[in-house]
Amino acid sequence: MRASAYPLVDAEVAASLVLERTRFLGSERVSLGDCAGRVLAEDVVASEPLPAFPSSAVDGYALRAADTGRPLRVVGESAAGRPVDRAVEPGTAVRILTGGVLPAGADCVVMMEDVELSGDVVTVPGGLKPGQNFHAPGADLKAGELVLAAGTPLGAAELGLAAAVGLPELPVGRRPRVALLSTGDELVEVGKTPARGQIPDSNRWALLAALREAGAEVRLLGIGPDEPEALRRLVLDALAGADVLVTSGGVSVGTHDLIKPLLESLGDVHVGRVKLKPGKPFTFATLPDGKVAFGLPGFPVSSLVTFEVFVRPALRKMQGHAQLQRPTLPVRLGYDARATADRTEYQRVTLKREGTDLVASSTGSQSSSRLMSLAGAHALVRIPAGDQGINEGTVVEAIILSLP
Ligand code: AMP
Ligand code: MG
Repeated sequence: MRASAYPLVDAEVAASLVLERTRFLGSERVSLGDCAGRVLAEDVVASEPLPAFPSSAVDGYALRAADTGRPLRVVGESAAGRPVDRAVEPGTAVRILTGGVLPAGADCVVMMEDVELSGDVVTVPGGLKPGQNFHAPGADLKAGELVLAAGTPLGAAELGLAAAVGLPELPVGRRPRVALLSTGDELVEVGKTPARGQIPDSNRWALLAALREAGAEVRLLGIGPDEPEALRRLVLDALAGADVLVTSGGVSVGTHDLIKPLLESLGDVHVGRVKLKPGKPFTFATLPDGKVAFGLPGFPVSSLVTFEVFVRPALRKMQGHAQLQRPTLPVRLGYDARATADRTEYQRVTLKREGTDLVASSTGSQSSSRLMSLAGAHALVRIPAGDQGINEGTVVEAIILSLP
């Protein structure tokens, strides 16, 4: 056993170091049905105006605004998808349905409810104005206008928009392929009865969920033993088909902590310890062929907090997200937060609304082994290193995981 040779790096410095050394993985064209949750890789520009034609917003009659207040002869019908081939002349109107093309000559639509119909003569009220009750061509988008910017996450509205401008597929960032490995001789498959001294491999399932939420495609490597050669073979096999290796456990300074030497033998370790609580032993390495490895601490909260701070932004960068970080909001501390002398601390809190304020309550013991401190937490409150602490009532920035 040795004292760690790795310098303690500021959490912020480590986070930017990780981002500097992760790259966009390139794009692929994907059909709209499979684009939800993906990230747009190139700007989408409208090639045609949207709508492409003047389209009625209501069921009613298309006419000239100048003709209002008098009886008009109805000369045809323009239904959605069935345009009428004649123009609206002075003294005439065309029955029109929602989505129907406004006929030539007409400059407004009057709603069905507002007219009186007798045979083929319709009487419309006065005071109509040109442009009323139809969507002009280009009202939503002009030809050449930016529809969606590269880096936009694709959700329901964005995909609807892509379809509306006629694109059956989109260029999206490739998903990072992540090999996920838990290490430790004490770990057993969840569901098996642990023998004395054994625990279920819970990090695998926590990290799998976190990785998927961050857009990764995950290959589960299961449990690796605390044995250097076996671990090395497992990792080498897995790396063949992966962009990223994520491990948990085996990074603190102890005889069974094998991940750092393994990563050193495979590539370059850039971060080996960070001034972060929880998560001090967090390790980051670059590997041949542009691959990267994250050695997360074994303690369940440490692995998830370091995932949040370091891995999630990197995975988002790989996919081309414009926004790498989670949103932050100012929150009022509802408790006295003690600080750690030499490390930035992320304390887990729940939030509640008091008027326009968000007030943070501690989730209880902040032990890095206590997942109960993170389950149901709404936010991570950043407490700067020092011996000052932050008093109840102070407003601090919080990383928002969810809102109450
Ligand atoms: P390590 O980083 O390997 O020294 O592990 C630190 C602590 O985290 C130990 O108490 C381990 O038993 C625990 N731990 C490590 N890996 C896991 C895992 N996959 N699931 C749950 N706990 C773990
Ligand atoms: Mg271990």
